[in-house]
Amino acid sequence: MSKVQNIKGMRDHLPQAMMLRQHIAATITGVCERHGFEPLQTPIIEYAEVLEGKLGDDESLIYRFEDHGGRRLALRYDQTVPLARVVAQYAGQITLPWRRYALGPSYRGERPARGRYREFYQADADIVGSSSPLADAEIIAILTEALSALGFPDFVTMLNHRQVIGGVARASGLDEASAGRVYRAIDKFDKIGADGVRDELLRGDVSPQAVAQILTLVQIDGAPTDVLQELSERLSGDERALAALANLRAIIGGLEQMGVPPERYKVTPRLARGLSYYTGLVFETATPHWPEGSLLGGGRYDELVGQFAGRPIPTVGLAFGIDRLHDVMEELNIGPRPATTAVAYVTVFGPEQAASSLELARELRAGGVNTLINLDGGGLGKQLKEADRKGVRYALVLGPDEVARGEVMIKDLRGGDQRAVPRGEVVAALG
Ligand code: AMP
Repeated sequence: MSKVQNIKGMRDHLPQAMMLRQHIAATITGVCERHGFEPLQTPIIEYAEVLEGKLGDDESLIYRFEDHGGRRLALRYDQTVPLARVVAQYAGQITLPWRRYALGPSYRGERPARGRYREFYQADADIVGSSSPLADAEIIAILTEALSALGFPDFVTMLNHRQVIGGVARASGLDEASAGRVYRAIDKFDKIGADGVRDELLRGDVSPQAVAQILTLVQIDGAPTDVLQELSERLSGDERALAALANLRAIIGGLEQMGVPPERYKVTPRLARGLSYYTGLVFETATPHWPEGSLLGGGRYDELVGQFAGRPIPTVGLAFGIDRLHDVMEELNIGPRPATTAVAYVTVFGPEQAASSLELARELRAGGVNTLINLDGGGLGKQLKEADRKGVRYALVLGPDEVARGEVMIKDLRGGDQRAVPRGEVVAALG
């Protein structure tokens, strides 16, 4: 190997970045657990056939390989398909409705770009076994609570329904077979604009009248109830579309009752979402600070679990993109930025004093204070410099005088002041 390097599109996360990522993960899992979601972990590698036939066009992005035994395997593309497998495989052990969360890496053979990686972490939250619009609303409530807790200043979740897009295609005179082309073109609206979508649909042999109709419908904008009303009028003869709009109305009713702030969501008829397994609600959350893509996305997929279980099991869920959240938080400088995990650094005066220093470190850790201890000796100045370079807040000095007096000298390396504290009060003094 000529140059030491990691794989393109996959990232090493050094300690500073990891501390922010762990804060993001802990915040999201905290919100999930407050809603009674239970943790699940599945392997990163699945049989290739588990993933195949579920992802539509995106299937080409799956990393596939053969293992030593000639088995066809794949790196998981997301945590949704593995969830569907688990629900089928452990049917007897799972009580529905089941709320589960999962946090881990997913792999896609994408072309790497800003915010688009080949290995990235997702935090998923799903409700399996309920078709209630309250389940859909709870998922939206969770993402709103998590992004608010993380300190995102302005984010909006765009809501739509697969059968609204179907209705838009039908109202434009297109059959189900052409609907896929329409989804794919509309999905790019925010990237390529109305003109780009128009060109793509025209190139795909959609008639100019149909294109005009599609573009009018997908650009309806306004307060959620107004958008739903206008769509109901324009799609009035289409039972499936009307049922979808009624479903969205019920979900929005749930959001209101759950206290989700109205500025946090809107109905966006042009939101399609790429994955083929969605059957109902689809949503994505974006922020104006990150034009490169969505922070998270999700929706209802009532048939995917059934592909494994042999019977439909209604499910709704979301995947936070931890890497996107991380990138945006870095850029906006939000969230905590600790320099290191340790709060205290215990100096070692010399070999005879090492035992007292080690004992002090043990007391601090037992008291819940993250503590580093000097390993390599040297003068006090050198040790304090090491503590400072690490970004530790307090250096605790324990020389023969302090030991004789039963005290510890606490130096605040940020403020610069220092004070002697009785040995038994050190933990409280740092609290
Ligand atoms: P998806 O599983 O495609 O619905 O994506 C859900 C979320 O995962 C997106 O909103 C992104 O935040 C994140 N995500 C998806 N693909 C990537 C990627 N290639 N790199 C980084 N984050 C991604």
